[in-house]
Amino acid sequence: MTARDDTPLWLFADQLSPVVHGGEHAHREVLLVEADSALRRRRYHRQKLHLVLSALRHADHDLGDRATLLRAETYTDALERYGRPVLVHEPTSHAAERFVHRLRRVGLVADVLPTPTFALPRKDFADWAGERSRFRMEDFYRDQRRRFDVLMDGAEPVGGRWNYDTDNRESPPKNQETLGVPKPYQPREDGIDDKVRRDIDRMDVDTVGNDGPRLFAVTPAEAKRALQRFIDHRLPMFGRYEDAIMGDDWAMSHSLLSVPLNLGVLHPLDAVHAAEQAYRDKTAPLAAVEGFIRKILGWREYVWNLYWHFGPGYTRNNKLHAREDLPDWWRDLDADSVTAECLRHALIGVRDRGWTHHIQRLMVLGNHALQREYNPRELTEWFATAYVDGFRWVMPTNVVGMSQHADGGMLATKPYASGGAYINKMSDHCGDCGYDPKKRLGDDACPFTAGYWAFVNRHQDLLAKNNRTQRAVSSMKRLKDLDAVLAQEKSRTAF
Ligand SMILES: Cc1cc2nc3c(=O)[nH]c(=O)nc-3n(C[C@H](O)[C@H](O)[C@H](O)COP(=O)(O)OP(=O)(O)OC[C@H]3O[C@@H](n4cnc5c(N)ncnc54)[C@H](O)[C@@H]3O)c2cc1C
Ligand code: SF4
Repeated sequence: MTARDDTPLWLFADQLSPVVHGGEHAHREVLLVEADSALRRRRYHRQKLHLVLSALRHADHDLGDRATLLRAETYTDALERYGRPVLVHEPTSHAAERFVHRLRRVGLVADVLPTPTFALPRKDFADWAGERSRFRMEDFYRDQRRRFDVLMDGAEPVGGRWNYDTDNRESPPKNQETLGVPKPYQPREDGIDDKVRRDIDRMDVDTVGNDGPRLFAVTPAEAKRALQRFIDHRLPMFGRYEDAIMGDDWAMSHSLLSVPLNLGVLHPLDAVHAAEQAYRDKTAPLAAVEGFIRKILGWREYVWNLYWHFGPGYTRNNKLHAREDLPDWWRDLDADSVTAECLRHALIGVRDRGWTHHIQRLMVLGNHALQREYNPRELTEWFATAYVDGFRWVMPTNVVGMSQHADGGMLATKPYASGGAYINKMSDHCGDCGYDPKKRLGDDACPFTAGYWAFVNRHQDLLAKNNRTQRAVSSMKRLKDLDAVLAQEKSRTAF
């Protein structure tokens, strides 16, 4: 069966933008579905359920007579009740993709079109990837800049450099509690949000995390305002402190655009072009603009395409043989039971907002999980459900590859493990912590410092073969108290 001109369009909750339902489809009726089984299937952060339901219901409201929103037990139930075959764009996970193709075979779906919510078509990435087995984001990113003609002067990058990463690694500023940048955009909640909140209270769903005011944009109009506020007020400081953590500044100068981007209500090229314009208008410096564009046109597109390229088996990778179950305090976001300041703060962020910035995900949570051998598959599932921006496609490469090195280095050249000294350099947490980042032995030994040496010891054969990590192995071999440190970490039960 093929789609006809009057075939309605079914939108998943992460396809709510005019690039999906406007243009050549602007005349079609739209079907939206709230499937209770999908909400119940996993233990999501409460605020994530709120964002997804709010996004769907706002789309239903904004599309007016064009839209029908059905609430049903399953998607199949909704489509059967709707009674007309629908057109759909490729969904964003392997499981959902298999599902829509099954629906097509039974006639509930008329046709499946490529998704327009990313910049690079999947087919073009497949051509780029070819037979490669190792991937370098930098190569991909430069090709993306050329292809979309972003920050280019003819064939050369503007400013003569492709990458300003080295300008973007400053420690947090001293004698300041916050970065002092204007606050991020915060949407004004409305009657739809109130109703969503009441409905979640009534639903039979097991959630994690605290409820709280809605912090992220869920409609194209809100996303536009969020982007504009970021570009006008926060972009100039983006980058410089990108790798830093400040305990009293949860958002720092990050964009907070991952939710609207992942819901499909903000197109990545719109964000990229707005940032480039700020550079051309001289309202933001090149290092900040390039850093932001690299994240979206580079990292985000790369992670999306590698999700498809690596295939559904990628999350089964466990090359470092990490087999520990996630502890209950972690799963339940019980931040109050944690004494390590950096870890406690990161868990508070997840508990209270379902969001922490990148470096807390990588340097604190991911680093802890790597050192303590948490099962990467379970960890992937945790990030996908506990974070408000956690969608299926974005997790595997970030967690299995970048953070846990469980793919054996297909993505990252070395495991992202670091001790307390680095966290001390890049955050303002250690001064308030009962542990001492310089100590590896004793009651106040920092769990990250001691955990780092235990990690190096466990994987010394692998690390010694890599010229980026072999020095860590020789340093470890010089530690006179190594056996005592290893014994201490083996019996550590609290952090
Ligand atoms: C262990 C781990 C888990 C992560 N989980 C998620 C997740 O569930 N959802 C998610 O969208 N991102 C995830 N990321 C990537 C990144 O941390 C978040 O996109 C970012 O922190 C979101 O906040 P922001 O919008 O303020 O980002 P900014 O710092 O302002 O960056 C701008 C945008 O760049 C994109 N971006 C940057 N880095 C990445 C990346 N590595 N992968 C994909 N997109 C990127 C995001 O869309 C982000 O909105 C994860 C990273 C790690 C290391
Ligand atoms: S001392 Fe160690 S545990 Fe405490 S904040 Fe610093 S790095 Fe984290």
